[in-house]
Formats: sequence, structure tokens, C-alpha cells
Amino acid sequence: MEQDAIFERLMQLIARYYRDREQGAFVDYFDPGALRQHLHLEDKGGQGNWDELFTWVERYLAHAVKTNHPAYLNRMWGGANLPSVVGEVIAAVTNTSACTFETAPVSTLMEQYLLQTMLDLVGFGEGCGQMTTGSSNANMIAMMAARNSLSPKTKHQGLCGGQQLFAFVNADAHYSMDRAANILGLGTSHLLKIPVDAHGCMRIDALEEQLAQVISAGGRPFFVAATAGTTVWGAYDPLAPLLALRERYRFWLHVDGAWGGSVIFSDRLRQRFLPALEQADSFTLDFHKMPGTALMCNVLLFNRPSMFLREVCSAGDESYIFHQGEDGEVRDLGTLSLQCGRRVDSLKWFLDWKFYGQDGLAERVERYLELCQYAEAQVGRLPELEMVVPRESFNVCFRFKPPVGIPAEPFNRALRERMHRTGRALVGTGHANGQLVLRLLITNINVGKPEIDRFLLSVVETGRELLAEGSDWQ
Ligand SMILES: *Cc1c(COP(=O)(O)O)cnc(C)c1O
Repeated sequence: MEQDAIFERLMQLIARYYRDREQGAFVDYFDPGALRQHLHLEDKGGQGNWDELFTWVERYLAHAVKTNHPAYLNRMWGGANLPSVVGEVIAAVTNTSACTFETAPVSTLMEQYLLQTMLDLVGFGEGCGQMTTGSSNANMIAMMAARNSLSPKTKHQGLCGGQQLFAFVNADAHYSMDRAANILGLGTSHLLKIPVDAHGCMRIDALEEQLAQVISAGGRPFFVAATAGTTVWGAYDPLAPLLALRERYRFWLHVDGAWGGSVIFSDRLRQRFLPALEQADSFTLDFHKMPGTALMCNVLLFNRPSMFLREVCSAGDESYIFHQGEDGEVRDLGTLSLQCGRRVDSLKWFLDWKFYGQDGLAERVERYLELCQYAEAQVGRLPELEMVVPRESFNVCFRFKPPVGIPAEPFNRALRERMHRTGRALVGTGHANGQLVLRLLITNINVGKPEIDRFLLSVVETGRELLAEGSDWQ
């Protein structure tokens, strides 16, 4: 098949998929075994046959989860921005690695522009940063920066024989923090989880107590992460008291804004949720979550000059690949990164930023907050539903309230499962305050009040259906 014909066929498939992305059910559900049979993964290939290849593509699309569909409410992303999808296609076609200027000149300049724009917005004046593969990676790099900043010799000598290091997070912090403690040689038991208050925020008194305990036992507290929007509850750890504690205990203060960091686009919401952010040591934000950029797209910012990041990350003989700019400036972004190959994520962000602008993103985030407020009010109006914990920001943690005698957790799990398998909607679950919640998140610009109403009614109907069928819920 001619190249042009291949692209034409591809574009037709893409356009058709995109046109239908909000139609019908969000998924044609199959169990893994049944889906495997359906896909014929074992069929013999190797003939270089394009018709056969497009059959695979059709099968992929037929069973793909329509994450653009308004009933897809499962995760912190969905409904990617079309400008960023265009960027993603171009990045795939041009296939390069954003680690050197010579292989990715435009991407390098776009990424530098992004970093400066975000540093200015956050208020890290002379800071530095990088795009990473996501906030999990960003949290790990921030923890590593804190470790090496406290003790520069760790980079060469490791942790063996040194003072025991301890990191502190909200008990509901993202699991990537535990993984970072594992990777960095701290050990997961050196990540201390601070209990939360009635709003889901880290209790400052409990944090201070644990800091003092670690010190009196001869340990060294080196890293505290505030979560700006916890994954399930949506709580923002208060920065002002953490900054005051930093004065006393000299730890690194990282802000994990993977989810809720998007409030920085709106002055009003930033004042409300993240005052004093500009005084933190590092900050991460996922553009692929609330702002809607195609997966993956993240930025990690440091309140430190760029040589700092280079010192933290670079190691080994890089002379075969990286070259200094004439003025000694960082020219190859790979020198600041832990990766060698780096996807071109800057283009997606750039196209979104130019298309919507900061004001467009601010309006979007403000609207999402209003819709969450609306959803919370609707939960209050429907007698079958209840909020499990009060809404702190963008997360609506609710559940179906089963009649006395039926335990809420297995019932709500079954309800969620039924909604998934019937293709009605997919909603996330999690635990807040020790209780299972259905976690409604709004990250799709095609979701409005009618879609929220439809979703909540569908939860009510599914719950009624399960009750009518009866079952042993123990
Ligand atoms: C989603 C999330 C992460 C992980 O981000 P990825 O980009 O998916 O790796 C980290 N922290 C918080 C608070 C999150 O919500």
C-alpha cells in the first residue's frame, strides 16, 4: 500500500473514532479471557500486510475504553485536549528524543519556554526544572534532590553508614512517595505517614511531634511533602505552618500538585488553595490531569538555580551525547534528567498553552470547582446518596447509602462493578477516613450539569437494581 493511502486510511479511522467517542457506552466490556479470544492475538503475521495491520487497529479501537466519554469518570484524566492530541501525533511522526538540542531543537526551546513560564507563574524566580514522565517520577526526583542537597556526598557514597534519613507525608499521600523511598535507599519504613485532621490535611501538631521524635532518636528529617489535592479526598496540606516548621527543622519542602496544582492558573484559586507556594523548595504539576493535555505531560520545578538540578541528576560519562553551549549554558535538557531517551512532551503542552492560554485554563479549573460544588449539592438532594467526607476541593467522595443491615463497602463495590460491566459509567473508588468512597472527579470539558445528573441518577438506579435483586453482602 502506498504511504499516502496508509495515512489516508489512518486518518479516516482516527476521525471516525473521535467522532463517535461520546456515542454509545464508554466501553464494550469483556472479561480478560473473553477479550483475549476476541482479539486473536496468536494469529500468524510476518507478511507485511497492511490490510491485516488495519484489522488489528480496528480491533484495538473497537475494545478501547472511550476515555473521552462523559461517563468515563474513573481517573484524574479523560477527554484530552485536541490541540495536544495534534501535538502527540506530530511527536510520533517526527520520532525524536528530547534529550539533546541537535536531535530536538524546537522541542528543547519549547520546553525551556514552558519551564520559564511555569517558574514565573509559580514564583520560583531564578529556579529551574524539567518535564518528567509524570508526578510519580517527579516526586522521586524531588526527594532525591532533597537527599543530595542535605548531604552532597550521598551522590557518590550512598546512604550506607550515614545518619538515618526520614521523610514525612500526609497519610493519604500518593503511593509514589513509598516507591521513591524504596528506590532512593531510604526504605519504605523511613517514610512517615502523618495522620490527617477532619479535612484530610496533615496534622501539623502530629508532624512536629514526629520530627522531634526522629531527631531525639538520632535520625535526620530531610524531606516533607505537602500534597496539594490528595488523590482520594482532595485535601490541600496548609503551606504556611509547614514553612514555619521548615525554619526550625531545615527540611526540604516539596509540594505534590499532581492533581490540585492546577489552581495556579487562577489567581483567585491559588490564593485560596496554595498561598505561599512561591516559598516551597519544589513543586510538581501534571498537565495530563486537570488541564487535559494528552498523557503523559508533567513539569517539576525547583526553587534553585539550574546548575543545582544538573548536580543532582547527572552522573557517568555523557561525553558521547551531550555538548555544552558556547556560553556554558545548558543546551541539552538530557543533562538535567535521569532519562536518556525523552519523549517530546513539550509540544503538546505548548499547543494547549497557545490555544487556550492561561485564562482559558483558569476558567476551566474554576468551572470544574463549580461543577464539583453542584455535584455535592445533588448528592445531598438524592435520598439514596450521601457524602462520605466533606468536599475539600475537586473530589466528590460519596456513596450509595444502603438500608440498615447491608454493609456499605461491599455494596458500593458491587454497584461500581455493575456500572462498569454494563457500560453505564466508570467511577473511581478509594478510601477516605477509612471508608470506601465513590470518587467523582471532573476533568473532561464535555462534562456539565446534565452529565453529572445523568451519572448520579444512574448510580441511584444501579443501587436500586442491586437491592431489588437481593444478595448476601457479607
Ligand atoms: C496522580 C498523582 C500522582 C502520580 O502522578 P503520575 O503522573 O500519574 O505519575 C502523584 N501524586 C498525586 C497527588 C496524584 O494525584
